Amino acid sequence: MSAQAASAEVSAGVIEKFSPVDGAHLGNFPITSAGDVTRAVAAAREAFPAWRDLTLDQRFAYLDRLRDLVSAEGESFAKIISDDTGKPLLDSLLTELMAIPLFIDYYKKEAPKALKRKKLSRQLFFPTKTSYVEYAPMGVIGVISPWNFPFQLSMIPVLSALVAGNTVVLKPSEVTPLTGELMREIFKRVGFPEGVVSVVHGDGSTGAALCKADIDKIFFTGSVATGRKVMAAAAEKPIPVELELGGKDAMIVCHDANLERAARAAVWGGFLNCGQMCISVERLFVVEAVYDEFLALVRTEIERMRVGGPDEGSDMGPLTFSAQMGTVVRHLNDARERGATIAMGGRPIEGPGQFFEPTLVLDVTEDMEIYREETFGPVLPVIRVADEEEALRMANDHQYGLTGSVWTRDVSRGLELASRMESGQCSVNDLVQSVGNPALPFGGVKRSGFGRYHGPEGLYAFMNQKAIMVDRGLLDVEPFWYPYAPKYEAMLGTFRNLMGGKMVGALTNFYDMHKITKRRG
Ligand code: NAD
Repeated sequence: MSAQAASAEVSAGVIEKFSPVDGAHLGNFPITSAGDVTRAVAAAREAFPAWRDLTLDQRFAYLDRLRDLVSAEGESFAKIISDDTGKPLLDSLLTELMAIPLFIDYYKKEAPKALKRKKLSRQLFFPTKTSYVEYAPMGVIGVISPWNFPFQLSMIPVLSALVAGNTVVLKPSEVTPLTGELMREIFKRVGFPEGVVSVVHGDGSTGAALCKADIDKIFFTGSVATGRKVMAAAAEKPIPVELELGGKDAMIVCHDANLERAARAAVWGGFLNCGQMCISVERLFVVEAVYDEFLALVRTEIERMRVGGPDEGSDMGPLTFSAQMGTVVRHLNDARERGATIAMGGRPIEGPGQFFEPTLVLDVTEDMEIYREETFGPVLPVIRVADEEEALRMANDHQYGLTGSVWTRDVSRGLELASRMESGQCSVNDLVQSVGNPALPFGGVKRSGFGRYHGPEGLYAFMNQKAIMVDRGLLDVEPFWYPYAPKYEAMLGTFRNLMGGKMVGALTNFYDMHKITKRRG
């Protein structure tokens, strides 16, 4: 692959970064050796007890500094992210950096409640006990992230893990090393104690070394293929793993939708970040009754789009990762051969950079690669359906289940369809934005992965739940303790009555057990 065509190349221990906008060489970044990954994890392990023992307020003092730094210098950070990815400056500001204050402010409010020891209600057969659930940080977390939202998809798991009292080693994507370096710089400037959070640059081998190192959980965002390898590595130990994988978002436009709003949403949701989103609209189901009217609106919206570099006030930039060009072209060729119509776009844009025309594909059917596989590019595939029931059946009959949306003026029908969609998130008359709501849990079902973050789950994802039961000291001996022989009948009676659902009988036997045990004592 020529340097001009590639967004990043890895060779001889170095990542060479090229601009997706014009192919210019943007820098070289040394790959962290496996030995240095081990050392970073050892430093995180050493830093863990002191970080864990800080109060939440003390931890938030660091996160407030991070928030202040991002607020003060966000626009220059956005420029670095846009140079790295090619995305419009506004997208870097709104979809990458804005997540920092949103999530830090949310967790500042939510964490004290979520992480408090919880007292549970008393249970019938444990009358002398008080039960609690509390949460303990796991230890050292390995975060491995992708290139499509290189800042946000790294920073949110990192800061959630830190709030929860863990230390973190982050392995950002080799495709976007400028952003990896930016995050390293930010952590340094915040002044986190040595070892609390570090960044190891590198490719798959660095990620694999991190999985092998002495970590307590892997939080992985990326493709299904890599997710399998990460899970296999986690299984060797075993340690828990969270997999945030691909998607094939289904948008269902019902007969009574607000068509203008839905058309504008479909175009934004399909082409935002050049379609390189796990939550991009990749299957647009439109019911027969409104198909022509809706499609005309979608065409008008696409015609209005401006494609260009980050600084040109464009709506859509280039593909970030040169390899995506191959996937997009392959999916379009396959679709064409199988009878789809490329109604708009369909080709790379002439000139420097990895630009591709916003592409509208009609007559898409279930046998096409563009329907079955994640495209991750500026392509909006449309499927004509008889009604929303057919759309839902098709939406669910798929390997992925990350996000989806339903568009109808009948909100209760929308909610009902949303409940029946097999996905981790589903919006009604909205799309994409739910991922930015810090209170909502995020994660997939089926091949889209498992585990949840954001919301309180975003803290629990990095904590072990601990059950604590305290005896209140009312009995010297317990009814269940030895000797069994004198209370044989009472014990058997407790078991039989309980199994038969006869609670009064069971409690009477239980009380007898207690009396006999006490008499002997
Ligand atoms: P990828 O799987 O190629 O790489 C992801 C990360 O894994 C990178 O940092 C890479 O260096 C690392 N890696 C590669 N091999 C590894 C190994 N053997 N062990 C450990 N780490 C390894 O994915 P990508 O191309 O960077 O990202 C695109 C994919 O991510 C798409 O499928 C997209 O849908 C998915 N994604 C999912 C979400 C989500 O939240 N569910 C969000 C964004 C992207």
